[in-house]
Amino acid sequence: MTEKLYYENSHIRSFSARVTACEAAGDTYEVELSATAFFPGGGGQLCDGGTVGGVPLLSVREEGEHIYHRLASPLEPGREVECELDWEMRFGRMQLHSAEHIVCGLAHRRWGAENSGFHMNPDSVTLDLTVELSEEELLWLEREANRIVWANTPFRCWFPEKEELAALPYRSKKELTGDVRLVEIEGVDLCACCAPHVQLAGEIGLIRLPDAMRHRGGMRITLRAGRFALEEEQKRGAVLGGLSSALSVPPERLGEAVERLLSTLERQKAELSQLQRAAMETLARSAEPENGALRFFVDACDRDALRALVNLGLEKCALCAAFSGQDGAWQYILGSRGRDLRAESRSINAAIRGKGGGSPEMLQGSCSASRQELEHFWEEFHG
Ligand SMILES: [Zn+2]
Repeated sequence: MTEKLYYENSHIRSFSARVTACEAAGDTYEVELSATAFFPGGGGQLCDGGTVGGVPLLSVREEGEHIYHRLASPLEPGREVECELDWEMRFGRMQLHSAEHIVCGLAHRRWGAENSGFHMNPDSVTLDLTVELSEEELLWLEREANRIVWANTPFRCWFPEKEELAALPYRSKKELTGDVRLVEIEGVDLCACCAPHVQLAGEIGLIRLPDAMRHRGGMRITLRAGRFALEEEQKRGAVLGGLSSALSVPPERLGEAVERLLSTLERQKAELSQLQRAAMETLARSAEPENGALRFFVDACDRDALRALVNLGLEKCALCAAFSGQDGAWQYILGSRGRDLRAESRSINAAIRGKGGGSPEMLQGSCSASRQELEHFWEEFHG
């Protein structure tokens, strides 16, 4: 039986142990140790990494009384080995997992919310709560969770006796069999969990709930904590900094600056549209129909202006086409007085490699033919 050092102390980063067994497993080896601080995974937390006797640890698993360390090369039984945890990875996971207990514990106390889903991603936790929360309630939850961190509230993990366990009102995601391990955050939460946790809430550093959405009658919340919360804030800060210098305003005034920009854009769009319309009128006025038809090629212009051009063209003749864009990427509008364009839309679109539809009087869409192909199509079509 392996001594579970990770339950005695979740902060052991290195330890020495004796190799008690080593069995080949495929092209790897499963090694048992007299004691281990490598957590084999469970409670939603993945197993630890690190090195055993200098050999990289591929994975750890628990089966019955045994804990197997999978290595790429064998270790001789009886040998004393130095073991090293991938502490950065383990500590980051403990920050995330312990933060999740605080948030779910608070939501349980305040709203009676159950934790109906929990997934640890490499740099965040996705958790589901069974109650819907407003934006204000989510802000409260985030603030209170951080208050627990600032208060440096202790975490206590233990295996209670049967009688003690029966008397305790603890949270649990499923019916538990065998020894139940409890994780208590004083005054905040009591929850069954087999994973290693921080010893003091202050180790978590920071808890953020950057995303939340309604999900199956409750909420699906993204949680970041510790290093991962800091990294996210740094990324956001860099994005805000870039925007702020691009728009020459301090970050807190970005909102108004973007609003101003959008309204300027709206105004310019309207002005452009008016100018395009005027240009189309001039173009249509000076155009002379050929064989009772008119066709126009214009630079990029909006669809309204293009439609206006075709309508103006149709005042001079019975068939009019306008193409806007460039070789291979055109917007088109075809207008007719007297000819059923809708009935011909399939063959028209096939000829110009287009997509579009409309009424008997007007077809519109986009096409990918070259200008030469469009000219050729038009010769055939109106001739
Ligand atoms: Zn847990």
